[in-house]
Amino acid sequence: MKYIKNYIAGELQAPTLNQHIDNVDPSRGVVYSQIPDSSAEDVEKAVESAEKAFPGWSNTPKDERAAIMIKIADIIESRLKEFAEAESLDNGKPVSLASHVDIPRAVSNLKFFATAIQHFAAESHYMEGVGVNYTTRKPIGIVGCISPWNLPLYLFTWKIAPALAAGNCVIAKPSEITPMTAFMLSEVCAEAGLPAGVLNIIHGLGHKVGDAMTRHPKIKAISFTGGTNTGATIAKIAAPMFKKLSLELGGKNPNIIFADCDFDKALSTTVRSSFANQGQICLCGSRIFIERPIYEKFKEAFVAKVAKSKVSYPSDPEAKLGAVVSKPHMEKVLSYVDLAVEEGGTVLTGGTQVKLDGEYSEGFYIRPTIIEGLAYDCRTNQEEIFGPVVTITPFDTIDEVLMMANSTEYGLASTVWTENLNTAHSVADRIHAGIVWVNSWLVRDLRTPFGGVKNSGVGREGGFEALRFFTEPKNIFIKS
Ligand code: NAD
Repeated sequence: MKYIKNYIAGELQAPTLNQHIDNVDPSRGVVYSQIPDSSAEDVEKAVESAEKAFPGWSNTPKDERAAIMIKIADIIESRLKEFAEAESLDNGKPVSLASHVDIPRAVSNLKFFATAIQHFAAESHYMEGVGVNYTTRKPIGIVGCISPWNLPLYLFTWKIAPALAAGNCVIAKPSEITPMTAFMLSEVCAEAGLPAGVLNIIHGLGHKVGDAMTRHPKIKAISFTGGTNTGATIAKIAAPMFKKLSLELGGKNPNIIFADCDFDKALSTTVRSSFANQGQICLCGSRIFIERPIYEKFKEAFVAKVAKSKVSYPSDPEAKLGAVVSKPHMEKVLSYVDLAVEEGGTVLTGGTQVKLDGEYSEGFYIRPTIIEGLAYDCRTNQEEIFGPVVTITPFDTIDEVLMMANSTEYGLASTVWTENLNTAHSVADRIHAGIVWVNSWLVRDLRTPFGGVKNSGVGREGGFEALRFFTEPKNIFIKS
């Protein structure tokens, strides 16, 4: 049994109260490691170590900070296979996905922000005959980063990298459901020479560790990715303390497919955008709207392709879908299939658990599921399911599809499939979402603003947006 440890003051440490939580391998349904059930005392220790480290780190020249971050990235890259296998074991995702997406992206996050900080500049505003304003951007101090289980190291580094590059000291909490690669990262940081206390990784439950971080008066900003309800809880605590907040929350993303689309591309990408990572990506499209002239043709081809997608154990190179992250999550996703049927939907394919053989017989596998015949405003079409379940709905006009697409409380991402440039522009302009992909999905340029509107979040990550979040501007005026 492997015991994960906290990373505080540059050292791997057991939690103060020496209590642990089981960590389950979702592909087999068995406990395979123990993680610290940390408490407010551990957060306090981390804050003390970050406080000691801050003057040194914030005054370290940018290029030296960047060199350490690039070294961390290089070590992860040199151990890519080991990291990918660990991510897959912890999360249930296919090893091939972790090897091609999760771990390479974690490496890119670190390299991207290590270099971005060297191009980051503040503004100056000249006032004719009066003087000049110049703005400095200094690190905030101690900041908190809290991340979810769906893309563990990918999203953990997406927050930590800009925070560290900007010169902050960080208290970071990975999801208790997928802690392993964050633990491995702490070993890498020590090896790469990151000074003690600059990054502290505390493992444990959200309502203990995450809550203690949110309440701590010396943690001046919280960057959070996770569920909308958790985001609301954090905002309630942090707002009266005037903490800076970045919240990346849930989604219920629409895919809008017009009759004039490139059919084959729309079809194959929609299979991916629906079921990649078992549908557990905040950017997955879960409501697919298809223009009526191609509805039946698209439906038939989509169902045929999805029914053939192989659900298998994560190390199977043929696996298109692995296990979902946990038993409670599997039960939640399947309960939405029951709800959809109660609401009048028809399951066209999937809808059930998959039982694999042998050592994987207790794993949490779900067949990719397509449902039709539901009203756009029923619960199945309004609430986030965050699993391999999508609905398909026909539409007749642009106004109608936009009304349905924009009807949820969420507004994170969307896709539009059409060969008509005017349609593409006008629909993209009118969708309530932070991100629109036209004739594509999940093409990511790390410089672009990333985030959602409505209940999908507050603020934007990515590029200079993230560096602005993790710095405080100060304007200085000099009279001429
Ligand atoms: P979650 O909200 O349950 O947990 C996220 C993190 O918050 C975990 O580390 C958890 O321990 C912590 N947490 C829980 N309660 C807390 C509290 N009271 N105070 C502070 N921290 C607390 O989310 P999840 O189930 O891990 O992740 C799935 C959700 O994340 C989905 O809703 C998904 O859409 C969302 N998500 C959003 C994005 C995005 O960029 N918008 C990306 C990925 C996932």
